Amino acid sequence: MHDASPIAPVLSPAFADDHGAHVPLICFSHLRWDFVLQRPQHLMSRFARTRRVLMWEEAIPTNHHLPYLEFHAFEGTTVQSIRPRVPDRWSREEQEAALSRLLDQMLALTGIHKPVLWFYTPMMWPIARHVDPSAVVYDCMDELSSFRFAPPELRQREDELIAASDVVFTGGWSIWEAKRNRHDNIHPFPSSVDTAHFASARRPQGSEPHDMASIPRPRLGYYGVIDERLDFGLIAAVAKARPDWQIVMVGPLAKVSEADLPRAHNIHWLGQKNYAELPAYLAGWDVALMPFAINEATRFISPTKTPEYLAGGRPVVSTPVRDVLRHYGDLAAVHVANGPEAFIAGCEAAMQQSRKPGAWRDEADRTLASMSWDASFAAMAAQVAAAARRRVEPAPVDRFPAPGIRRGARGYDVTICGAGFAGSVLARKLAEDSGQRVLVVDKREHIAGNAYDHRDAAGILVHRYGPHIFHTNSDEVVSFLSRFTEWRPYEHRVLAQVGGKQVPMPINRTTLNQLYGLSLSTDEEAAAFLASRAEPVADIRTSRDVVVNAVGRELYETFFQGYTRKQWGLDPSQLDKTVTSRVPTRTNTDDRYFTDKFQAMPREGFTRMFERMLDHPRIDIALSTDFHELKGADRGALTVYTGPIDAYFGHRFGHLPYRSLAFRHETLPMRKMQPVAVVNYPAEDVPWTRITEYKHLTGQVHPMTSVTYEYPSAEGEPYYPIPRPENQELFRRYDDLARAERGVIFAGRLGSYRYYNMDQVVGQALAVHRRIAAELRPAAAAALGAE
Ligand code: FAD
Ligand code: UDP
Repeated sequence: MHDASPIAPVLSPAFADDHGAHVPLICFSHLRWDFVLQRPQHLMSRFARTRRVLMWEEAIPTNHHLPYLEFHAFEGTTVQSIRPRVPDRWSREEQEAALSRLLDQMLALTGIHKPVLWFYTPMMWPIARHVDPSAVVYDCMDELSSFRFAPPELRQREDELIAASDVVFTGGWSIWEAKRNRHDNIHPFPSSVDTAHFASARRPQGSEPHDMASIPRPRLGYYGVIDERLDFGLIAAVAKARPDWQIVMVGPLAKVSEADLPRAHNIHWLGQKNYAELPAYLAGWDVALMPFAINEATRFISPTKTPEYLAGGRPVVSTPVRDVLRHYGDLAAVHVANGPEAFIAGCEAAMQQSRKPGAWRDEADRTLASMSWDASFAAMAAQVAAAARRRVEPAPVDRFPAPGIRRGARGYDVTICGAGFAGSVLARKLAEDSGQRVLVVDKREHIAGNAYDHRDAAGILVHRYGPHIFHTNSDEVVSFLSRFTEWRPYEHRVLAQVGGKQVPMPINRTTLNQLYGLSLSTDEEAAAFLASRAEPVADIRTSRDVVVNAVGRELYETFFQGYTRKQWGLDPSQLDKTVTSRVPTRTNTDDRYFTDKFQAMPREGFTRMFERMLDHPRIDIALSTDFHELKGADRGALTVYTGPIDAYFGHRFGHLPYRSLAFRHETLPMRKMQPVAVVNYPAEDVPWTRITEYKHLTGQVHPMTSVTYEYPSAEGEPYYPIPRPENQELFRRYDDLARAERGVIFAGRLGSYRYYNMDQVVGQALAVHRRIAAELRPAAAAALGAE
């Protein structure tokens, strides 16, 4: 599963309304309106139902000495095409400058103000970048830069367009995967299908198109643009191997010449037909073909033909185009075959089916029923409306303290030091279940402890104390926290920067393959590879032993030695084995950082969740207040202490060592900086350990992005207890004091001197409450009875 559900964007009802349905739209397209009917026409004609839509097409050179505009109207649509004409003798730069001026002229002439700018080609971005838009949309149908004759500047212009776009759509899943790390608001919308139109191919036809009528059966047909993406060698091979089969090729030539086409008595090149005629051709075929070459130009294509052919009731034979395999590969009606022999076998099987429409067709129909241009259009239009709204809405700001959270002064039963997970969970349980009047103090000016998140100056939700990712296997913890938040599914992924590469961390099979240029394809192969490098350690005690024993010295040094020395200021050989044991080694390709059954982020952030948790009539909060400055008499009968345990006892046995961090928070003028939320930097000569980009965690859509660099340090706030035997020894002495301390409970990461995750702290707090609930039951009964 992906971390968001991009095909069915989650939209609040407000976004699904009519807002923005009348904003004019200018579609910049390298395809002409009256070329083959494709995605632009399907979508634009729908947009044109409620708004003015102009299709700005590729310029046509003219021998006239001045640039000018042609306006073209077509039957059956209110979409108008604009065909700019530019003097053919002008340089590219002069032509582009002229196009930009023509665009302004057109806007002035039409009175269009703040249009939606919708791009099919990044090449046209420079001529429109100065226009003040309601929203910029990039609908990326193909990986244009891998097409033949792609201009070299296409890539750079695409970068610029992506950076400027409010929302990006892709024509398929493969291209979405390839581009998803470059934008924060990118959604795949595989091309849909006009089922009713093509279904007419299933009905008996009066007469066959004249240029096909004389071609004998069986016929295997293709329609679509005929360009370098087709595998002409394959077509020739099939025709040669089966001279009795007739191959019918319908469509205009692009970027290839007549001379490039394979010729044979049984290959028929019928040229371009219009959209209305296609079903009649399809009706006369036994099998429909997609003989695409498998190369760079077809890596990301998501051909609309597949569902159209199926709607026409034909079985399909295709080469293994990734998106065809992915979306239709499971259908009995779709035969995916590589190489002439397999392709011919696929055609034979398809011909058999063609004679007997039955289960294979019903199954295909069920798939088609779930796809429609109307549905895609509606979802895309809602995204455009949301994008336009985002442009005018002010950036969200934090309100704190939240309504319902008060500071008061009254008699308390319990004082809690620390408003982090430990303190806040216990506050809620004690107040709600045990009827205690609770005061929570925190020396910081906010609640939520180290999990605190807030909007930075740009309005981006960031974590002040470094990335906090929630994951757990405990149902109890999930169900308790779910009372105070909804969740956004999020599976954490981390890459490690090793030399010039970013490879998955924890080490998995992909990491090994990428690092060593291998092609290990099974768990067993990966396990054997690791075993050949591992250096068994008989008595595993330290964090070095754990890793060297599993993966050997080289991988240990690459991924763990430098990182750990930086993070802890100690060599892994000086740290307890529990530290690096947190990070597994995998032989499969699971690249998630955690494997817990529940992985999600609080939908509105941690702080919001804490606000709700602490919002209870029997809880008061005193922020910017040091517990040690409270008078003992004001604290009530019970104290819960979640600060550093040694500080409570005045460090009387000496300081317990904690590791600290300095954070460098930055906001950058780009939509996304790195491919995943966290990139680790294990190299010792890089001063930070990792960089976190929050938008991956939160799913926030924003034109900028905020990141945090972490610099470990010995000085500063105590964040990490340092797991070493001698520290544990010292802790034990404090723990003995703690046990003897009447009326005080120590909890949390610092109070327990344990390297706990958030969920473990919540679990501990719930367990502590269970333990003391019995003693508090009379108080609870009294308090609850009084209500
Ligand atoms: P804290 O959150 O530290 O809260 C203790 C509070 O006590 C603080 O707010 C402090 O100001 C207050 N306090 C201390 N002394 C006093 C005093 N004298 N008077 C008043 N107030 C005082 N866990 C995960 O599960 N997933 C993660 O991804 C993750 N990432 C982390 C990243 C970093 C950089 C760090 C440091 C920790 C991370 N953790 C993560 C661990 C997580 O932060 C802790 O498990 C959790 O926050 C502990 O909660 P707590 O209530 O014990 O402590
Ligand atoms: N670690 C490492 N390299 C990495 C990731 C982790 O050496 O790329 C070691 C390091 O010692 C780290 C420990 O493994 O402190 C535990 O990592 P984890 O990600 O669990 O630490 P967290 O950030 O959650 O405290």
